[in-house]
Amino acid sequence: MTSKLALAACLALATSPAALAAPKAAPPTPPIPIARAADYPGVIDLKVDVSDTTRKVFRVTETLPVSPGPLVLSLPKWIPGEHSPSAQIVLMSGFTVTTDDGRRLAWRRDPVEMTAFHIDVPVGVRSLTLRLEQPTAQPGGPVRIAVTPNLVLLKWTAVALYPAGYEVGRIMVRPTLTIPTGWSLATALDGAETNGATTRFAPTSFETLMDSPVYAGRHKAAFDLDPGATRPVRLTVFADSPKDLKATPTQIDIHRRLVQQADKLFGGARNFDHYDFLLSLNPTVGYLGAEHQRSSENGYSSAGYFTAWDTAFTGRDILAHEYVHAWNGKHRRPADLWTPDYTTPMRNSLLWVYEGLTEYYGDTLATRSGLYSSEQMRQRLALIAANAEATPGRGWRSLRDTTNAYIMNSAGGTGSTSWLRSLDYYEEGQLLWLDVDTLIRERTHGAKSLDDFARAFFGVDDGDMTVSTYEVEDVFSALNAVTPYDWAAFINARLDGHDRAPLDGLTRAGWRLVFEAQPSAYVAAYEKDAETSLLTFSLGAEIGWDGAVKEVLWDGPLFRAGVIAGSRIVKVNGKPYAPETLKAAILTAAKPGAPAIVLGVRADDRDRVVRLAYHGGPRYPRLRRLPQTPDRLGQILSPR
Ligand SMILES: [Zn+2]
Repeated sequence: MTSKLALAACLALATSPAALAAPKAAPPTPPIPIARAADYPGVIDLKVDVSDTTRKVFRVTETLPVSPGPLVLSLPKWIPGEHSPSAQIVLMSGFTVTTDDGRRLAWRRDPVEMTAFHIDVPVGVRSLTLRLEQPTAQPGGPVRIAVTPNLVLLKWTAVALYPAGYEVGRIMVRPTLTIPTGWSLATALDGAETNGATTRFAPTSFETLMDSPVYAGRHKAAFDLDPGATRPVRLTVFADSPKDLKATPTQIDIHRRLVQQADKLFGGARNFDHYDFLLSLNPTVGYLGAEHQRSSENGYSSAGYFTAWDTAFTGRDILAHEYVHAWNGKHRRPADLWTPDYTTPMRNSLLWVYEGLTEYYGDTLATRSGLYSSEQMRQRLALIAANAEATPGRGWRSLRDTTNAYIMNSAGGTGSTSWLRSLDYYEEGQLLWLDVDTLIRERTHGAKSLDDFARAFFGVDDGDMTVSTYEVEDVFSALNAVTPYDWAAFINARLDGHDRAPLDGLTRAGWRLVFEAQPSAYVAAYEKDAETSLLTFSLGAEIGWDGAVKEVLWDGPLFRAGVIAGSRIVKVNGKPYAPETLKAAILTAAKPGAPAIVLGVRADDRDRVVRLAYHGGPRYPRLRRLPQTPDRLGQILSPR
């Protein structure tokens, strides 16, 4: 408006503030139907082709029966086990919608829920065919999906849309998968009929399909971990070379004992009709684990899972951890982690049970079965305890708050882990449960333990493959049934406390944390696997073999000297950096009257000299027996 009238109007408004228009919010976005407990009419036909391992593109054709009117199709976003909004939406592309009479329909992305697509189905149309692609190799590509020249890891959550408005357990789908010619696959899906490179599976619920990933590869070995069982447990391993698949009978026997020890821990209840461990031994795919009701995705960063058994053993609890989830997490699930569809947000308030207790039982079963020796487990526990003790982040962030880390950032948290301590509900959660277990054992004079809790709380509903939800009060009640105590107060104090690491359980187990000049075999194996020097408890950092400063202990010696992650150590006391040179300098600086360690540090394209007044010598964590106390840790780790 430029007229005199407009000017007059403006002046009038300026002198009369009450007449100003208040900001007005935009109307709400179109509704996404709430999931209801009703069967979706008909069966979705889903065809996925993952055979293009050169361009690494997954190609999808999905045909679904529809009725006329508004329709919302969604890509799974809140996926069980991911603990975060983790839709593989960024690269989803080539998306078209065609009617059964060949017309192309327009789709409109929901302006708030980026994983939801609005479509108007015309009168007379009875089915739609969707086409889409996932070009997995592009930057921002899917998480825990891998395509290598020898291996494909497929999560159906990246390649299937579901009609909103129905519980995902009540939408039926018949999946078909095409893999590279000459490869073979493994999955928990039933009714496989293979014709050349294409396998058709029996119709299943959308929920079960999303919970049944597929590994496909060039080189595969399968092992029966429970021969003769009515509910079989299988291990299928994929590697880049057949020689990496050569497991010894002793190694397979150890994996069979894992299944037996889990049966004993959970009282023989199995909430699956069969179970498939899927394991990749591929450094590119790396270390990973994801739980499902009838299978688990496992990845070992070393190809030497079998062939370097005695030296590459850190993280060998991965299969045990994921298997425990079949009970703790899949069948018994915190109520706020169960949702009727994959659009409803999940909440992580009980991850200290879901993950913390799974870490505890996983490490326990890994040792009871022989995946770890007792000594290896003690060395691992020493590292977990030392990390907890060294964590300054406890001063500001409670253990309870760390359970939100994945919701805040689906990568789980970046930055200083000692200060942000984003994922401490795993390992500090494990220490919390050691605290609980040893207290039960102490109060009952060894008559009861956390094994009794496992049987009572998780070893239930044998054969039932549905989800049984629980609240925190149920956890406290079940602990009280094992032995009466104020478990709510005990656990809440540890979840909300800010003062010190929960190491009482270690003491009650008959051991204490000490530091020695020599690294344990576990630390040495960790350093070799990560190509890093673990100097957290001396200089306050992990330093790569190339001098790259990785994890820096917040307020540790290097941090105080202004050296942060991302810097590079180029010189040590005037000599070029090498891991041995730095370790020798730490030893020399511990001698009486020795001068400071002089480091040449490169950061932000600038070199500077740092004098490190650290004279404490090398420090690596170990556990040492407390004399005249019962070795409860030994009892916990002994096979049943
Ligand atoms: Zn887990």
